[in-house]
Amino acid sequence: MYDVIIRNGLVVDGSGREAFKSDIGVIGEKICKIEAEINEKGLTEIDAKGKIVIPGFIDPHVHEEWVCFIDGSYELFLRQGVTTVVNGNCGHSIVPGPRENILNYYWGNGLISTKQRNDYLTRFPEWQDFDGYAKAVEEKGTNINFATLLGHGTIRWSVMNGAHDRPPTEEEAAMIENIMRHNLEQGMWGISFGLDYVPSRYADLDELVSVAKIVRDYDGVAAAHLRHYIGIKEATEEFIEVGRRSGVKIQVSHLKPTCPEAFELVRKAAEEEGMRILADTIPRSTGHCTSKSRLLQFVMAVSDELFASGIEGVKAALKTPEGREMIKKDAYIFAGDKSDKFVILSEDPSLEGRSVADIAKERNQDPDETMLDLLADDKNYVFWLGGPSRTDFPADGHCETIVKNPYVCVGTDEIMGDIEDPYDWYELQRRGGFPIFMKMYLKKNVPLEEIVRRNTSMVAKHFDIKKRGELKEGNFADIAVIDLDSYSYPSPEEIDYRKPLTMASGVDSVIVNGKLALDKGELKRPFAGKVLRRNN
Ligand SMILES: [Zn+2]
Repeated sequence: MYDVIIRNGLVVDGSGREAFKSDIGVIGEKICKIEAEINEKGLTEIDAKGKIVIPGFIDPHVHEEWVCFIDGSYELFLRQGVTTVVNGNCGHSIVPGPRENILNYYWGNGLISTKQRNDYLTRFPEWQDFDGYAKAVEEKGTNINFATLLGHGTIRWSVMNGAHDRPPTEEEAAMIENIMRHNLEQGMWGISFGLDYVPSRYADLDELVSVAKIVRDYDGVAAAHLRHYIGIKEATEEFIEVGRRSGVKIQVSHLKPTCPEAFELVRKAAEEEGMRILADTIPRSTGHCTSKSRLLQFVMAVSDELFASGIEGVKAALKTPEGREMIKKDAYIFAGDKSDKFVILSEDPSLEGRSVADIAKERNQDPDETMLDLLADDKNYVFWLGGPSRTDFPADGHCETIVKNPYVCVGTDEIMGDIEDPYDWYELQRRGGFPIFMKMYLKKNVPLEEIVRRNTSMVAKHFDIKKRGELKEGNFADIAVIDLDSYSYPSPEEIDYRKPLTMASGVDSVIVNGKLALDKGELKRPFAGKVLRRNN
């Protein structure tokens, strides 16, 4: 007797081999049999006729490390067929504790709102290190598995007592190393850098290499949000050099499709130098949607002076000409003509769905002043910073060079918003990264088997996540049953931007560690996901 049997599906096993019709039998948390026809019965039987059966996708780049302390359902991942994510990217991580230190770091970097920080300070469990964090997550429960990276930004900021534009002293470097080794020994998977963000961006090549060498001792992965401001190609070269000098495994994070040359560098490093390297990419993005209060916080975070005076300081600055000048100078949202900044929800319906440039025209005003007025008035808005067409995400998808590159996978870069206030901050297209990639690559004639391989076993092998990423007897039963015809996410033209909870469709069932987390389209909460430990 099996716990679960999936019958009659087209099995795409993640290895890249040709798809085949088969049944799959699960006992406990493992796959026990893959056979053309299993004669025994299952306590639960899933009819997968006409559907594909794949190992759950592995997303190497997300920021969902503690959403589970509020709600561990992770529905938006399950509905894409994702069963494992890598957390702790872009330099941001859950160590070193205590919890208050971490929350202050995330808040200071604009990753959580003031309301979230204050609330989580009382609601979250306490932890000091990865062991403590893992126990806290397991106690709360998660529907998906996590691998977790150290964040260089968080550790450097904690040890050096803030974001400082200088190398760490010898003593500080030793403290950084201690924190890294302590947590790597507990099973963290490597480190992430956020080279566009403070304080990670203050690290030069030598500092990056010396940190990467520590990770090399554990054969972990070093991931990086690149130093984009030096040019994407140059930034990719820099990070490959970190891999070359340290010998560490490299994950180039959310590489932009506007620079195919950078993808080529990754391929050449792998094929010509034998480096262990992958790149992940966000298949489509149309920018962030954010509430006014959150936008004020972003404005606060970009200037030292405003940061020191807090949200009330930003509000006061909006009321004086000097304050307005300072905000315009520092906040990136004031670049450009505002035709890509929209009001999508408003207490004044006449403003909804219009660009700030358009509203400015009607008011016979400079668009910057209109933006400042909207921030300064006493109404609530949800803004969309981007719009349906973005030049950095070509509408016709990836070019041939990228499509043919066998070292490229999806990284959705899905970022925790306030899940109790979904309008606070959201980025819709990221919530459909896997179906968007699947459709785009099938259309460009990449075989289904290869698309699945790049997003399952390839990532598992790179990170050395054992017994996952491939449907094989003895492996963990992380399985998605997908109706390929309806597997999709609404296009930027179709989507209603006022609906932050828009999710992918077409995933029928998802099993995580043998338990059904999505059952014929219905969300379940078995919380069978695990905090994965390296070497375990
Ligand atoms: Zn990121």
